[in-house]
Order: sequence, then structure tokens, then C-alpha cells
Amino acid sequence: MVNFRITVLNLLLTSCLSHLAANAQHTLSLSNYTYSPTQTAVGTLRATGPVSRLSLRGPNAGLFTLNKSNQLAISPKAAKTATPWYDLIVEGQTASGSVRDTFRIVKDEFIRNQVIAHRGAWKQTKTSENSITALQNAIRLGCMGSEFDVHMSADSVLFVNHDATIQGLAIEKTPSSELAKIKLSNGEPLPTLEAYLTEGMKQNRTRLILEIKTSTMGKERSMALTERVLQTVNQLKAQAWVDYIAFDYDVCKKVKALNPDARVAYLYGDKSPEQLAADNLFGLDYHFSVLKKNEDWIADAQKRHLTVNVWTVNDRETLMWFLERHADFITTNEPELLLSLLAN
Ligand code: MG
Repeated sequence: MVNFRITVLNLLLTSCLSHLAANAQHTLSLSNYTYSPTQTAVGTLRATGPVSRLSLRGPNAGLFTLNKSNQLAISPKAAKTATPWYDLIVEGQTASGSVRDTFRIVKDEFIRNQVIAHRGAWKQTKTSENSITALQNAIRLGCMGSEFDVHMSADSVLFVNHDATIQGLAIEKTPSSELAKIKLSNGEPLPTLEAYLTEGMKQNRTRLILEIKTSTMGKERSMALTERVLQTVNQLKAQAWVDYIAFDYDVCKKVKALNPDARVAYLYGDKSPEQLAADNLFGLDYHFSVLKKNEDWIADAQKRHLTVNVWTVNDRETLMWFLERHADFITTNEPELLLSLLAN
């Protein structure tokens, strides 16, 4: 059954890929996917390529307005309801026909603390890192984000795991049918990205911090993985939840090329805030030793409207050092400890 579902997903993604290729110049994106009762302006709709006359379609079209500058807003009445999100169809005209996309517009109840659970919250609860349970724990704790790592199987199915290998198998060289048989130490199956995002999208408080891992098979494969990740996020309508991070700067730039509105932070630590801002990144996400050495990058990044995230900080003293310097986010294996420091 699992194998069958993976095959079906793969077929869907492949047809989606060929559709995207056919409409390569015509994709729609939105600068923001959230609203609140006090923030009814959602975001600006953008089309890559010559698309004209954008219009709203579907059963929720009447709850939204689109002005001449393609700024989308939700009606104050719809923004006040308990509904956690609305799906909205947007259609635009091209020279050869029309393009259509469905966006999930989400009520902004996202948590504003600095806590990102590294590979989920797994350590204190003694569960497997990068498991669905670890994600659920991070959500239950009230972390602003839960981080996880994504690799691609030999047949282009995306799986969540830190290492490039699992139980002796190289993920990139193993078919999804084999990977689907793997059980984590907590008894869960190795999660697919689809299963992971679907779980995270059951709520609207904790964001999903998606690390696109660098392929061990070369740049082309990293780019293919990146394309597959964005297709999956788009197909599941997970844009409101997902922030991207990557060590490979070309991957960061590829995400921005595929979706100029995506929030992308760079992990490796060798680029200045000036360069990241020039490439329209969302922020920097550097090892704590890099930021301790380049302390001025924290204020410099924030001056340039970049977010500052730091990994992986697990001890009280270093957590305090970054809290005192107003890091926007701290990625930690000890989210419980960081939450307790914030509560005091
Ligand atoms: Mg990671």
C-alpha cells in the first residue's frame, strides 16, 4: 500500500513537472500567505512571465479582493472566523491560454519566540530525530519552528533524514520501495517529505524549517532535489508553513529562482550579510562559532532586514549569549531549556 501510494505521488509529481515545464514562463507566486484579524492585507500576487488579468476563482473567491496592483486582501469578516485557512484559486491569462494555481491562505497564529527545534524535539523525549513524533513534540512545546532534513531517493521520492545514509543504505542510490520498509528506532516508518509536511500542516503555530541537503552525487542532483522539494511544497500548498535552509549557496539561489517569494536562509557561514541581502535571502543561519567570531554580522544582518538564526546551540551559557544579542532564532537540540530561559 505504502509503495503504491509513493508510486502514485511520483506519477502526480512527474505530470506536475511536465506541466510546469510546459508553462515554465508562467508560474504564480504570492509574497505572503498569511492574514490575521488585524492584518487583512495578505500579499502581492506575482506571475513569472507574461500573464495578464489575474482573477480569483473557486468557492472562497468572494472572501478575498484583488486590487489593480495585484495586492490580495481578505475580508475583515472572513479574517475573524475560527477557520484556520482558506484555499483560493487564482487564474491568469497567457498568450496561449490560462494558468491556474491554488493557494492556501493561512490564519497567522504562528508563534513568535526564538525557538527552533533541531530535527524536531527528540532528545528529552527520547524519540527518533527527524521523526513525525519529534515534529509533534516541537509543536506541542510551542516552538516557533521545527527543523528537518530532506534527501531524494534513486527514483526521486523525498525522504526526511539527517544523514545521506540510513541503516547502511545510501538514500540517493536506493529506490523508494526499499526506503519505505525502513523503521526508525521509535518504530515509525522513515517519513516521506509528503507525510512530514502533511502532519505539520494540521496546525498553524509552528513553522516547518526545511533543510535541502547537498547531494553526494553532484550539483545537478542537488538542483533536481531542490526542484522536487519546491514542487512538493507547492502541490501540498505548504508555502505558508515552510522556510528553506541549505548549505549549498547554489541551492539557496535555485529556490529563489523557482519562487522569488520563498524565505531562504544560508547555512555555511562564509558569506557576509551584504551578499545575502544582495541575493534577496531571508536570513543567515550560521554555526555559533562563526557568529561569535563575527559578532558584528548580527546587527549588520538585522539592519539589512535579514533574520539571524544560529545552530546548534545546546548549552545555557551560549543560549544566553545569543539571547542577549537578540538573535531572531536559535536552533537547538534542547528546546525545553531554551523555552525555560525565555520564560524567566
Ligand atoms: Mg539540518
